[in-house]
Amino acid sequence: MRLASLQTSRGPRVVGVALDGQFVDLCEVDTKLPTTLKAILETEQGLMAAANALAAGMTKGPFVTGQLLAPIAAPSKVICIGLNYRDHALETNSPIPSEPVVFNKFPQAVVGPDDAVVLPAVAHEVDYEAELVVVIGKQGRRIRKEDAFKYVAGYTVGNDVSARDWQKGRPGGQWLLGKTPDTFAPTGPYLVTADEVDPHNLRIQLRLNGETMQNSSTKELIFGIDELIAHLSQLFALQPGDLIFTGTPPGVGAARNPAVYIKPGDRMEVEIEGLGILSNPVVAETV
Ligand code: MN
Repeated sequence: MRLASLQTSRGPRVVGVALDGQFVDLCEVDTKLPTTLKAILETEQGLMAAANALAAGMTKGPFVTGQLLAPIAAPSKVICIGLNYRDHALETNSPIPSEPVVFNKFPQAVVGPDDAVVLPAVAHEVDYEAELVVVIGKQGRRIRKEDAFKYVAGYTVGNDVSARDWQKGRPGGQWLLGKTPDTFAPTGPYLVTADEVDPHNLRIQLRLNGETMQNSSTKELIFGIDELIAHLSQLFALQPGDLIFTGTPPGVGAARNPAVYIKPGDRMEVEIEGLGILSNPVVAETV
C-alpha cells in the first residue's frame, strides 16, 4: 500500500495511491481516520484502517488533488546512520565501521517533495546523499533483531543534505551543525508499507540536474535495517513516525575530484526502486 500526505483545499489529508496513480482521500472514506500519517501510526489499528479505506476507495474514490507533503511532517526523531555502504566508506577514506555511526537531524529539518532545499548563507560546501528511510510503526525499546521488522511501518525516500564545511573539522567532532540546517531532510513522495518492500534489495540513485551521481543498491548496506533497530533501541525508545536515514552509497559530491557542491537553481532527484522519486530544487537563503 502506498500512502501519502497531501495538502488539499480542505487541509492536509492522508491519501492512498490507487492503481492508476490517483489519490484516494482516506479521511473521507473513513471519517474516523486521523488526518496525519503519524497519528495513524500512533493508533494500534491505524494502518489496517487505512488499508480498508483504500480498498473501499480504490476504484471509486473520492479522488482528491493537492500538493504532496513529507509523509511524516513532524517526527519525534530523525536518526541518521553514517558510512553504512561499504563503497561509500572507502570513497571517503573512512574505515569500515564495526558498529553503526549514528547522528541526527532536528525534526524541523524535514521537508517534502518539491520543497526547496535552502542553502544557508554561511554554508559553502553543501552536498546531496540519497538514502533509504525507515518509518517506525510502533513504540519499542530493547527490540531484538529477529523482531525488528515488526516495528517498521514502511519506507520512503530521503536526501541527507549535508553542509560539509559545517560537518567536518568543527570543535567536538560532532556532525550536527552540518546535517541539520532547516530543509536539510527532504523525504517522500510516499510511505510504502513494509509488506511491499524488500529493503535490502533496492536500486538507489541520485540525479543532479539530470546527471546520475549515485547508483547503487541497498544490498551494499553494512548494517541492515533489523540490526540498526536492535542497536538503537538498546538505548532509547523508537516511536511511531520516527525516521531512520540508513546511509548513502558512493558518489557524493565531496568525494569527487573536483568536488561537486549543490548551488541555487540545481535540482536533486533521489529514486529508490518501488518507492518513487523524491525531487527537490535548491535555492539560496535570502538574507
Ligand atoms: Mn547520510
